[in-house]
Amino acid sequence: MNRAFGNSRIVALIRVASILIGGVAEADIAPGAASAQAVAARGITVHITNHAAVDQKVLDRAGEILTHILEKVGVQATVLDGNSEMAGRQASKLSNVYIDVLPRERAERLRVSANVMGLAPGAATDHDRIKVFVFDHMVEKLVWDQVKAGVAGRASRVPHKTQILGYAMAHEIGHLLLHVASHSERGIMQASWDRAAMQDLAVETLTFSREEAERIQAEVARRTSRSSE
Ligand SMILES: [Zn+2]
Repeated sequence: MNRAFGNSRIVALIRVASILIGGVAEADIAPGAASAQAVAARGITVHITNHAAVDQKVLDRAGEILTHILEKVGVQATVLDGNSEMAGRQASKLSNVYIDVLPRERAERLRVSANVMGLAPGAATDHDRIKVFVFDHMVEKLVWDQVKAGVAGRASRVPHKTQILGYAMAHEIGHLLLHVASHSERGIMQASWDRAAMQDLAVETLTFSREEAERIQAEVARRTSRSSE
């Protein structure tokens, strides 16, 4: 793949599910939507903390894209600014997910591989993980890769940073909610979004697979019920 972001190992604390990227075909789109209404009450709160000085408008739009991605698989997400609220005051632990958007220095401190765009710290066998990282400098790099591909005539659609950031966040949350460190052949959970995936991403039709959507719904339901205990 021309912009591989594979799994990486994190040195000290954690095993890592690396980030990235995926492409998906029309057939996989919004398969979970049929049951979306049934689980509409089951939601997660996503706290996004901007440690990388990302433009707030970009971050806000990325949050909207993330919300829309999750909505397509039947999950209602409320996005909050992790810098400003009351983030820790939610009663329910497991129905809260924390996304830290980090700059290059923080990525280097975590000793992730240079080509990794994000990660979900901890072991996939830990079903109660709530934190993920997305690395802004790698999002920027991917944006520029796409711009260059567009200029070179290799891509007809060039995604905006808001879209790549939103999808990167969805990918990492996917690792948490699916309990996997591994990746899928296609879709948001693809290890490295291929050209077709980037084209779908640019029009925001890239999605989780049907099977992933079902598992994500079940996991959110579990987390919601655990939270109300
Ligand atoms: Zn990944």
